[in-house]
Amino acid sequence: MISRVEEIFYAAYRELRPRAPYPECTIEFVPFANINNTIRLKDRKIFIRLSDLLEGAPEDVLLAIAHILFAKIYHKPVEARHATRYRRYLGRQDVSAKAHLLRQERGRKVLLSAQGAHYDLEQIFEELNLRFFHGLLARPLMTWSRQASRQNLGHYDPAHNTIVVSRIFDRPKVPRHAVEYLVYHEMLHLKHPVKLNGSRRCVHSKAFQEEEKLFPELEQAKLALKTL
Ligand SMILES: [Zn+2]
Repeated sequence: MISRVEEIFYAAYRELRPRAPYPECTIEFVPFANINNTIRLKDRKIFIRLSDLLEGAPEDVLLAIAHILFAKIYHKPVEARHATRYRRYLGRQDVSAKAHLLRQERGRKVLLSAQGAHYDLEQIFEELNLRFFHGLLARPLMTWSRQASRQNLGHYDPAHNTIVVSRIFDRPKVPRHAVEYLVYHEMLHLKHPVKLNGSRRCVHSKAFQEEEKLFPELEQAKLALKTL
C-alpha cells in the first residue's frame, strides 16, 4: 500500500525527472528537535527523514518539501514557488510556535546535564546565589555544553533561560574557583540584561563590570582559564 506521503513524493519526482525510473524510497517521520528534513541517496536507494512536525502538513507543503529534497540530491534548481510555499508554511504562527516548543522540549532532553563528571553546576549556582545575591536570583536551567569548546567558555541564553558552561572545565585539574567565576559571570548576565545603549548593544555595562570585581578570586580564576 502506498501512503499519501509516498504518493506526493512520487509526484514530485515525476515532475523533476519525468523519464528516470523511480528509485526505492524510504520515507519516515522523525522527532527531530528542529524542523529538519534530510535526504540521502545510497546504493540507488533513497532515504528521506522528515520532521514529525510536518506529518499533518497540507499536501502542497509536502509536495514543496519533496521537490526541494529531490532537487538537492539531483542538483536541480529549486523552483521558487516551492521554496516560497515551504517558507510561508514555516512562517505560519501556529507552526513556528509549535516548532519553538519542540525545540525547547526536545533540545533540553539531550542537552541538559548540570551534574558533570566533576562539578555540579546547580550546586555551584546555589552557593554563589547565597554568597553574592542573597539567594535572590531565580535559577535558570544549568548545563554543561555538549562539546568541550575552547571558544565559547560559557554563555547565558535568555531565549531558553539557560546557562551553558563549556564541558572543558568539568575536570579535576580545573580549580573550583575557575568554574565558580564562569558561573558567576553568567549570573551577572542574568542580573544585568543586555541594554541598548544608543544603537550599540552594551553587554558588559559599567555596573556589570563593577559587580564582577566583587568576586574574590577574580584574577586567579581568569589566569587559570587562560592557561588551561
Ligand atoms: Zn559576558
